[in-house]
Amino acid sequence: MSTEKGEQAAPMKIAAVHTHLLDHRLDVPFESASMRFDRRTHVLVEIVCDDGTTGWGECLGPARPNAAVVAAYANWLIGADPLETEKIWATLYNALRDQGQRGLTVTALSGIDIALWDIKGKHFGVSVATLLGGRFRESVRAYATGSFVRDGVDRVADNATEMATHAAAGFHAAKIKIGFGVDADLKVLKAVREAVGPDMRLMVDANHGYDALEAIQFGNRAVEYGVDWFEEPVVPEQLAAYRAVKAGQPIPVAGGETWHTRWGMREPIETRAVDIIQPDLCGVGGFTEAKRVADLAALHGVRVVPHVWGTAVQIAAALQFMAAMVPNPVRTRPIEPILEFDRTHNPFRQAVVKTPLEHVKGVVAIPDGPGLGIEINRDALAEFRPKEA
Ligand SMILES: [Mg+2]
Repeated sequence: MSTEKGEQAAPMKIAAVHTHLLDHRLDVPFESASMRFDRRTHVLVEIVCDDGTTGWGECLGPARPNAAVVAAYANWLIGADPLETEKIWATLYNALRDQGQRGLTVTALSGIDIALWDIKGKHFGVSVATLLGGRFRESVRAYATGSFVRDGVDRVADNATEMATHAAAGFHAAKIKIGFGVDADLKVLKAVREAVGPDMRLMVDANHGYDALEAIQFGNRAVEYGVDWFEEPVVPEQLAAYRAVKAGQPIPVAGGETWHTRWGMREPIETRAVDIIQPDLCGVGGFTEAKRVADLAALHGVRVVPHVWGTAVQIAAALQFMAAMVPNPVRTRPIEPILEFDRTHNPFRQAVVKTPLEHVKGVVAIPDGPGLGIEINRDALAEFRPKEA
């Protein structure tokens, strides 16, 4: 920014980096095929600049290890110009590169990068979507994610009832959890399809609970129920198995929530191991890296549907990113991105912001305020802070 005299103002500097742990013990634990949830535990990143500007981010995955890596990165952040997002990304990635090309080093970096883009938007008085290149849309349709296996509950009836609730709430699409066995999963899918009727779009997510043979068997039998995509059929390390699943059954294959950075995304995209790639803003490397991944996917004709599993900070990041996603095709009948909208129990998901990012009949408005377009509710951070933190 220039002063009246035409002199360059001193650049902003990062003065402090904080993490905020959020924790809630669930009354009714639930499971995916790969993970059990007894608690909801997430971590937010707060970066404070010397002029008082504050940015917020969130890291995907285990909260305390993420917080520890964010603290380790602080050495390289203090004193840096927060507007230099690319330079900071490269510096932090390089700092831990030799032992940290994926995983917590990148999820922690993602939370930092999101906070820096929030700061940049606030500094220039525009939304992150505008910084990314423009707002192609002001709202997105959301799909409901739920139907985990809950302790002590009949899974078939529970999932069917839950999905009917989402249909009644106006969601056009919903995703159910599978990966617990082909026959058992097909019973759930059949019951859910009967409960929601023929028009609602359904997706399935195995959370890498199958091997390739089971996944192929499931896909061939599930297709009669109308399934839009088959998410994480097999473990993420086995890209050849992904390709076998794609070739061996008719449902489009999706994945990507555990693949990090452009380097982690390159082979699945270039070899078309998936039809739909699902980068998580809080895992893939923040806005800086997600943009590169989306461009790579566009180059190869792979559809992008961001993965979302976090608080309103993460939802806001996904919304800003989705606002700026270039329509494809541009004019005639664009394939619009859809937002993953977690419907499982999490009392702090929306409480962390002063204005919740809720849906209205399955549609979520994209905030147009500066940065992420959200305001943090510090009372909620205190309320859900773990006792030992
Ligand atoms: Mg998933």
